[in-house]
Amino acid sequence: MAAFGTLFLPEMAISWFDGKAWSPAEMVASDSIQMHPGAHVLHYASTCFEGLKAFRHDDGSVKLFRIDKNMARFEQSSRLLALPPINPAAVKKMILDSVAQFAADVPEPPGSLYVRPTHFGTEPAIGKAAAPSATSCLYVLLSPVGDYFAGGDACLRLLLDETGMRCAPHNGMVKGGGNYASALRPIMNAKNDHQADQVLFCPNGDVQETGAANFILIDGNEVITKSLDESFLHGVTRDSILTLARDFGMTVTERNFSVTELLERAAKPHCEAALSGTAAVLTSVGTLIHDGKTYSVGTGGVGPTTQKLRRALNDIQWGKSEDVHGWLTDVTS
Ligand SMILES: *Cc1c(COP(=O)(O)O)cnc(C)c1O
Repeated sequence: MAAFGTLFLPEMAISWFDGKAWSPAEMVASDSIQMHPGAHVLHYASTCFEGLKAFRHDDGSVKLFRIDKNMARFEQSSRLLALPPINPAAVKKMILDSVAQFAADVPEPPGSLYVRPTHFGTEPAIGKAAAPSATSCLYVLLSPVGDYFAGGDACLRLLLDETGMRCAPHNGMVKGGGNYASALRPIMNAKNDHQADQVLFCPNGDVQETGAANFILIDGNEVITKSLDESFLHGVTRDSILTLARDFGMTVTERNFSVTELLERAAKPHCEAALSGTAAVLTSVGTLIHDGKTYSVGTGGVGPTTQKLRRALNDIQWGKSEDVHGWLTDVTS
């Protein structure tokens, strides 16, 4: 199976903003786009994206998961980067139409079709370091993906980083390339120096998120995760898992918490921790590395509550349990 995100369907929906209006969406070959070498995005990182999935159900239908949440966040990222305003309804239609066109290529569970809308500044103007791009391009790339857990249940090692931060604090809600660029070097260092899988960014002890996923702590019947503020990315999976935890009668606590509290709770034998995101859904965290010492989270293995929450989310996505929250959108009807 190809590595996640390296396989693409041959066509994609695309639309261009010329400074005044968006061009009608059209389907084009997905292997190239043309832009000026002076395009704003290539110099000043005026780019953002979304990641959502389409699932094949047993009755042959194809459903997108929480597309309206992703459209709202895409609109927000574009606004925070001062890109031309997008029309969420128009982008949603580009996604529905292109996924419907390729409905036969949506893999069966546990695979899915990963949908990657992308928006970036195209204005050829290398003097606009402190001004927005007047023009932009928006496309919807489609990538069939397999079972994220095919290699067995992963249990991650996270390095706790209290001195650095993932991105500038005012930019945390932007799902965009610039923030990933900023997180890359600390993550590479953590892999090299500590054999960590990811960095859990905890500036001044405030437990935030990793490079591309939100962090949740499960202590008995309570789920604890950082409350929403502009310093980090508000995951759709995070919101979904918290909703399912409430459905199970768990106490959901959204508040700031420190590295000290995290390590205290992690030492309890029943404690669990996990990362949430569209790609991996919910992945167990087995080990925390802090100040040169390693700490197991609970037993250090995959916890039962993490498994239960992940299964509950997958069951809705795969059409195996009722979509009580109205999270699915049929692409063919
Ligand atoms: C995309 C992303 C997440 C997870 O968001 P989902 O909507 O759950 O996929 C978390 N953190 C960062 C930095 C992200 O880019």
